[in-house]
Amino acid sequence: MDYFVSNAIIPSMIYADYHMHTPLCGHAIGTPEEYVKAGIKVGLKEVGFSDHAPMLHQRMPGVTMTFDELPQYHQMIEDVQKRFNSQITVKIGIEADFIPGYETKTKALINSYNYDYIIGSVHFIDNWAFDDPNPTVKEYWKIYDVNDVYRKYYKLLQQSAKSGLFDIIGHCDLPKKFGARPTVDLTREIKATAKTFKDCGVAIEINTAGLYKPIGEMYPAPNCLKIYQEAGVPLTLGSDAHSPNDVGRDFDKAIALAKSVGYSEVLTFKQRKIDQRIKM
Ligand code: ZN
Ligand code: FE
Ligand code: FE
Ligand code: ZN
Repeated sequence: MDYFVSNAIIPSMIYADYHMHTPLCGHAIGTPEEYVKAGIKVGLKEVGFSDHAPMLHQRMPGVTMTFDELPQYHQMIEDVQKRFNSQITVKIGIEADFIPGYETKTKALINSYNYDYIIGSVHFIDNWAFDDPNPTVKEYWKIYDVNDVYRKYYKLLQQSAKSGLFDIIGHCDLPKKFGARPTVDLTREIKATAKTFKDCGVAIEINTAGLYKPIGEMYPAPNCLKIYQEAGVPLTLGSDAHSPNDVGRDFDKAIALAKSVGYSEVLTFKQRKIDQRIKM
């Protein structure tokens, strides 16, 4: 017998949003307190901050915090952890870029503080920020061959998992953001990526922010997610919130998608180890 009349009644409170930013990155709004309160309001059991780590290969104001701001980041999150302790679990993570050649520096950055999890994201191909909406940067989509972008992207994803730096790989089909899809079948590349993720013990996230980008769908696409599920790659959930209003956004859709491809649980992390396996 089905007692549920809609997804909204399914106890969403058991879930965790692991992808939230803070104003330190220069392009997000709202205080950590507002993000945490939003998490409580939408009924999440847990939230985790994962603001953009300081960029190592170039200075990027308006994109990431600076090195000098790292102590402030930790201070802010520790503050809300303490204050909201009785209402919600607050974890601290960071979203770090994978830049080949900067693995040692990235490792030093990650190890300089305690984190519950590290999201590794590929936002750069050949030093090109392919998901940057700035028109002069976006222009490069006209120069690059779309299939080459995707092939390079999957190579970088595999390298990022093999680096051992990360616990979760962020938005794992990000090149689709502005709508450019591969025009050839890349199933082989995605399967190789999924196998690498499984072998390296990294999780992926369903990132709901893609629904609000030109592509209008979550990362990764259902057919990709199915490949990761079949390979046995575990899952987390993230809104990629850049505003308190985004916290836990569309998790009903994310959970429905996860279940539709065969996932039955999502992970939480604590001090860079699996904390809980939440049954969906
Ligand atoms: Zn951001
Ligand atoms: Fe990202
Ligand atoms: Fe993010
Ligand atoms: Zn992100």
